[in-house]
Amino acid sequence: MVLQTKLTQLLGIKHPIVQGGMQWVGTAELASAVSNAGGLGLLTALTQPTPEHLRNEIRRCRTMTDKPFGVNLTLLPAMTPPPYAEYGDVIVQEGIKVVETAGNNPGEHIKKFKAAGIFVIHKCTSIRHALTAQRLGADMLSIDGFECAGHPGEDDVTGLILLPLAARALKVPFIASGGFGDGAGLAAALALGAEGINMGTRFLCTQEAPIHNNIKEQMVTASERDTTLIFRTLHNSARVFRNKVAKEVLAIEGKPGGAEFSEVAPLVSGQRGKLVYELGDPDHGVWSAGQIVGLINDIPTCEVLCKRIVQEAEQTIRGRLENMIVSEAKL
Ligand code: NAD
Repeated sequence: MVLQTKLTQLLGIKHPIVQGGMQWVGTAELASAVSNAGGLGLLTALTQPTPEHLRNEIRRCRTMTDKPFGVNLTLLPAMTPPPYAEYGDVIVQEGIKVVETAGNNPGEHIKKFKAAGIFVIHKCTSIRHALTAQRLGADMLSIDGFECAGHPGEDDVTGLILLPLAARALKVPFIASGGFGDGAGLAAALALGAEGINMGTRFLCTQEAPIHNNIKEQMVTASERDTTLIFRTLHNSARVFRNKVAKEVLAIEGKPGGAEFSEVAPLVSGQRGKLVYELGDPDHGVWSAGQIVGLINDIPTCEVLCKRIVQEAEQTIRGRLENMIVSEAKL
């Protein structure tokens, strides 16, 4: 049995599961593994140092899977603003069929991708931004709840509220992001109107994720209370693992009068975060993690994980939920 939804039908994939576009993690190794497992793998464009490196990574990924995969392009404040348009051009030139945009002002990018016939999933954390993206031509939304890793926006609304709101407000289909990592979560997302789930942190803790095993082990032992929000005072909130460096950032942000970004920049730079994954030192820099870490207890392959999630979702729907519906006459 498989779960068939608009996501699986529109993208021609087996399972209604999309891999989140994670900085330093969305390489061909992980994207191809997720796609080979029946989900939609995503290369993270900005993980590649230049647009030409992205071109090579797309070509490398094609040698590792014959299944559909996409590219994530995240548009957020960055220390060195990346040449987004040139990354977008490479995505178009390489014939990518699915793009996930995320972050601020996606308009010109959505326009370019739609002109090239690309299926655009826009990830956002509010209904008003979802409606804007729909108006701009996005084919699907990825509705990201406050539980998520990375940037949850500034509204602090959880998926339990955002998803039913999306179901009422949107004309285009949507998937659920932030706080997903197991089959009960998938069943819940489908019940709330979503066509599937997007998982970042859960895929970070798989065999194929290209990061040091120490970080995966750290996630296995972590609880749901082990994340924190930095950059609140800078209006660029980011949910990260609550480690030594994150606490230092919070202390600087919390001083009277607040802090300028430049005061925390050396602590939070992406280049330093990258070393966390390479060295396997969880305290070397800040690294993104969602509240789902509290539900992660193992380091499976993507294949095992996707299969298990879909089976659990099916058991939840057919077993637990269906069994609750009984005829009044039997009471
Ligand atoms: P970076 O080193 O440029 O910045 C590190 C962090 O500081 C990021 O969270 C960034 O948003 C934030 N930041 C940078 N300048 C800021 C400013 N002036 N004010 C407030 N916050 C600021 O980041 P990087 O690791 O080299 O990544 C490049 C870009 O790609 C960043 O915008 C990052 O957020 C984004 N990205 C995020 C994800 C994700 O999973 N959340 C995925 C892909 C890309």
